[in-house]
Amino acid sequence: MECIFCAIAAHNKEAEIVFERNEVLVIKDIHPKAPIHLLVIPKKHIASADAICEEDRSLIAEVILVARDAAQNAGLGGYKLVLNVGREGGQIIDHLHLHVLGGWDRAPGAVAV
Ligand code: AMP
Ligand code: ZN
Repeated sequence: MECIFCAIAAHNKEAEIVFERNEVLVIKDIHPKAPIHLLVIPKKHIASADAICEEDRSLIAEVILVARDAAQNAGLGGYKLVLNVGREGGQIIDHLHLHVLGGWDRAPGAVAV
């Protein structure tokens, strides 16, 4: 079965890409749960945090640093980083991705997740 985020990483499926580097890309979430909702996605297919292996250490660090930079570039003074793991953890897409959520101060009344 095709992986949506692998397809986006390979530019075979459209997405609103806000940042791209060798191993990582950042897209806008298609169904935002916050005024600003980005997804940081390693191009390598890693099914979930449960599937991270030793050789992925630097890649995972890169994902977090890119998330920080993306949040700062979006002008967020503070934000949430969310990593859903497994169905019980709310993970729907089986390709690791870090949610960057913020901007509630810009949209009073918006619900935090
Ligand atoms: P999760 O529940 O952690 O697996 O989160 C998956 C996220 O991916 C959800 O917030 C979806 O809205 C988002 N999403 C699903 N398909 C796309 C897509 N094609 N482009 C951008 N975001 C997507
Ligand atoms: Zn994938």
